[in-house]
Amino acid sequence: MPNFKNLIEKMIRSQILAKGINDKNVIEALRSLPRHVFVEEAFMELSYSDLPLPIGHKQTISGVYTAALMTSALELDKNSRVLEIGTGSGYQTAILAKLASKVFTIERIRDLSLRARKILERLDFRNITFIIGDGTIGCSEFAPYDRIIVTACSPAMPPALLNQLKEGGIMVIPLENNSAQNIFIVRKKNGKINQKIIAPANFVKLIGKSGFGS
Ligand code: SAH
Repeated sequence: MPNFKNLIEKMIRSQILAKGINDKNVIEALRSLPRHVFVEEAFMELSYSDLPLPIGHKQTISGVYTAALMTSALELDKNSRVLEIGTGSGYQTAILAKLASKVFTIERIRDLSLRARKILERLDFRNITFIIGDGTIGCSEFAPYDRIIVTACSPAMPPALLNQLKEGGIMVIPLENNSAQNIFIVRKKNGKINQKIIAPANFVKLIGKSGFGS
């Protein structure tokens, strides 16, 4: 059995610190999370390398650098209520749940949502609500949100998500334009939207009403 603690430390050195992320809270969260339990068993040992790995249903777990970068951009604190679109493996959900007060996470593929829920319950998380459905329309029931993170790539900013973002809130979302993907950080201030690109990206497609057609 490999020593996962050592693999985590190596991952943090080579994929996080070496690439310029030094957000202490995010690094602490990464340190506390066994990434290998979120991938299929055959890929466990590769889970700390810099590779996108399959999680079933043609979806992939986000790379750890990208997950850390997006989390850091969200500027979370212990009071944040966060909406996540694209539960996938649940790894990003776990990072958010370590740093925020409450996470609402939407996944369109039922099996993936149930799988993530099982893993996160086993890790003893109690501040996550799992929702199965189309995240491009958000979830008005628990809105507004201090923070929103989308972990699949959209052709445009979904209007429902902008509406459900609290005044003063931050959203991080990958958008595709002319087949190039970039991660945008969006801030809502005095009812106005400010947006800027923080990095290029390589996500699976966001499929739904305000995403790519299904
Ligand atoms: N953060 C996840 C990334 C998973 S990939 C992880 O680290 O594992 C993106 C996920 O978004 C996939 O599971 C896909 O099924 C889901 N997805 C795509 N479109 C969606 C939508 N409209 N609503 C909710 N989830 C969606």
